[in-house]
Amino acid sequence: MLRRVGPSLRHFLLERKSSAGYSSYSSEEKMSRPVQARRLEGIDKNIWVEFVKLAATYSTVNLGQGFPDFPPPDFLKKAFVRALSGENHMLHQYTRGFGHPPLVKILAQFFGKLLGRDVDPMTNVMVTVGAYQALFCCFQAFVDEGDEVIIIEPFFDCYEPMVKMAGGMPVFVQLRPKAPKDGQLMSSADWQLDPAELASKFSERTKAIVLNSPNNPLGKVFSREELEFIADLCVKHDVLCISDEVYEWLVYDGKEHIRIASLQGMWDRTVTIGSAGKSFSATGWKVGWTVGSNRLLQHLRTVHQNSAYHCATVAQEAVAQGFQRELELYGKPESYFIQLPKELQQKRDWLVQSLDAVGMKPIIPEGTYFLVADISEFKSDVPDVPDSDEPYDSRFAKWMVKNKGLAAIPLSAFYCGAHKNNYNHFIRFCFAKEEATLKAANDILQKWKREKTSP
Ligand code: PMP
Repeated sequence: MLRRVGPSLRHFLLERKSSAGYSSYSSEEKMSRPVQARRLEGIDKNIWVEFVKLAATYSTVNLGQGFPDFPPPDFLKKAFVRALSGENHMLHQYTRGFGHPPLVKILAQFFGKLLGRDVDPMTNVMVTVGAYQALFCCFQAFVDEGDEVIIIEPFFDCYEPMVKMAGGMPVFVQLRPKAPKDGQLMSSADWQLDPAELASKFSERTKAIVLNSPNNPLGKVFSREELEFIADLCVKHDVLCISDEVYEWLVYDGKEHIRIASLQGMWDRTVTIGSAGKSFSATGWKVGWTVGSNRLLQHLRTVHQNSAYHCATVAQEAVAQGFQRELELYGKPESYFIQLPKELQQKRDWLVQSLDAVGMKPIIPEGTYFLVADISEFKSDVPDVPDSDEPYDSRFAKWMVKNKGLAAIPLSAFYCGAHKNNYNHFIRFCFAKEEATLKAANDILQKWKREKTSP
């Protein structure tokens, strides 16, 4: 019966077309009106699509996109396998839309402890398809046509298009580097906001500020003083804070990650975003979450129930078990949240040494698994094209992957269009990689340096 519907519907449409004056029907006929919604204008380019493809085509060593090339911890993989093949076959079905109950319960316990307050699993926590969807829910839920959203540059690139898609206006404020002390390498802590400049960006139109600490791409971990200054401005101007803390466990040298939601007056106006992908080295699982007051989260739930709604049950079950373990081992040496940063700090130091030894000056990150390095000394290998629209670092990164097989991401990708040329002599490396990968990167850099210096 159903098969007959296709041809007869087509016949009906053809009849209508010819009776409407069309001379012939062609499957080649194109729509003449713009098909895309206006809100997509100008946001169609995505740096990752281009650079991921280049890395896949040319790289022998990929330190570009941010993901570990080592496995997640065994306890987490085992939890996934147990969830997948255990008795409870309901784990293969939809679970609660706003978050699998065992996961929201343990996240509430965990973040309640971290934030020093009662966190209700059902109203103060919502699970999302990675931190990416958490960000999307925030912008859709809070930003109206014409609202301004302050974004600190350099920033994780999706903030800008997501604000625009919601009808908002991004307002940028830059972290500006201070010269390091004589003979010392620069640190991500040397990149700071000018307090007066930041204050000048807040106005009656400001709806929210996006904070990302530890910051991708610089690895900056905002100090308590810096966060208090931001918090005071939020309170003074009655502004929301969307706090992207996906690298919360990846802080080095004894530095402390401070959650802005824990500061005076901020719980009620902050959504804190986290990611199991970054916390447990399992970016492909795409489990993220938001924590915040019900007054804010009720609107995230509205967006979520009208977009993704459900997240993968098995992955949520496994992440819940991962957090259960971490809560039991909290602060102990066996905790993954203690072990991972310890291992990554060593990897950071290897990459710092490799880059410094060849003159690609690294900015030492206080957090994240990224490191930004200055390519000025390598400029002679990749001549500048003075009137090119493409920032120099982008052409450099493309040249490097094609000619040296080493993939990295240009820093200009983390700036808005107007500011892309402000800091265009830096590239970002990801050091969440196996020792062998970092060694292979070192070999490429050493060989390159030898070729440069040999007559
Ligand atoms: N925020 C930042 C700062 C990120 O770097 C990333 C991933 N690179 C995300 C959010 C998205 O995280 P997820 O993979 O959990 O969606």
